[in-house]
Amino acid sequence: MTFDQIKTQDKAYILPTYGRVDVALVQGKNARAWDAEGKEYIDFTAGIGVNALGYSDPEWAAAVAEQAGKIQHLCNYYYSPENTALAQALCQAAGMGKAFFCNSGAEANECAVKVARKYGEKRGASQIVTLVNSFHGRTLTTLAATGQDGFHRDFLPLTPGFLYAEAGDLPAIDKLLDGSVCAVLLEMVQGEGGVIPMEEAFVQGLARLCKERDVLLLVDEVQTGIGRTGTFYAYQGYGIEPDVVTTAKGIAGGLPMGACLVSEALGDILTPGQNGSTFGGNPVACAGARVVVRRVSDPAFLQSVTEKGAYLKARLEALPQVEYVRGKGLMLGAKLKDKDAHEVLVQCAGEGLLILTAKDLVRFLPPLTITKEDMDQGLAIFQKVLEA
Ligand SMILES: *Cc1c(COP(=O)(O)O)cnc(C)c1O
Repeated sequence: MTFDQIKTQDKAYILPTYGRVDVALVQGKNARAWDAEGKEYIDFTAGIGVNALGYSDPEWAAAVAEQAGKIQHLCNYYYSPENTALAQALCQAAGMGKAFFCNSGAEANECAVKVARKYGEKRGASQIVTLVNSFHGRTLTTLAATGQDGFHRDFLPLTPGFLYAEAGDLPAIDKLLDGSVCAVLLEMVQGEGGVIPMEEAFVQGLARLCKERDVLLLVDEVQTGIGRTGTFYAYQGYGIEPDVVTTAKGIAGGLPMGACLVSEALGDILTPGQNGSTFGGNPVACAGARVVVRRVSDPAFLQSVTEKGAYLKARLEALPQVEYVRGKGLMLGAKLKDKDAHEVLVQCAGEGLLILTAKDLVRFLPPLTITKEDMDQGLAIFQKVLEA
């Protein structure tokens, strides 16, 4: 099919919920991808932080294919060794107690909300504090958790029981914790909100406050997790111990998977029948995830993410058209001085570079396995677009 045929079919048969760019990818290899007409792209998106090991990593692809040829799915009423082995590896890498597997970030956050509500149920504490400018997903409950009115419009009423506070404003959160609150939920780096890292003092103060008030600390690591910021989970760079961690995007290297991880102490909070997912813990997704978790949790791999992130950040900061760069590891956003971020994204695609935006910033979430050569080639295209 030519690009025009693909686009015509898309417009005819797919709900127009995405503002699509005129690129259709049909093949990829690490940080390079090719479209239907054979044009090559450098990829700074990793499918929005999903392809942690890049496109079609050979070890990952072999593990997935092998599992598909062995047993592709089984009912969650039975035990699965792929499931249990992944849970152990993930909990050990995350420093958490137990995992619930689902299929997306929104579902992982739904589970976190259920855990928090059950925790507060006996003392009548059902409210959850989230941050203004956060992003937690598209289901009606996770939309309610998302502290951005723009996402709520047209879909009211949402799930009740969410309160919002400004990031960094510990006194405001202190005031909200009046006995009706069971949990606080936040991202360590707000992704969709514009790549905004939380201040260390705020996060540590919040963790202390939650402990004092017997309020659960829930960390949404859907975008920041799986090595993205240079630690396995971003919270591990903040010296805190969350009660619940949610993860998705990069976890299975490109297959749909999410997980809600709870602390040792909360290990038995949900009882049989209280949560479930037909596809949750699917063995094929688990086989991919086991390769991702083993490779990414290696300290040398995490160190390489930190180094690549520092290199990319420094190169971006050196561009005269860039006002500032913020983020952590290979999760970076750049504010441009005069150019519109979305226009730059479209021009980059035309020149063979795939990037993202977040609010009015251009955003970079390259595969964690990107080479220096591919970063340099992508940066050269980015520079050319900024100079045009
Ligand atoms: C992407 C994202 C989600 C939603 O994940 P889905 O898999 O799209 O449901 C939730 N929280 C954060 C921080 C995200 O970046």
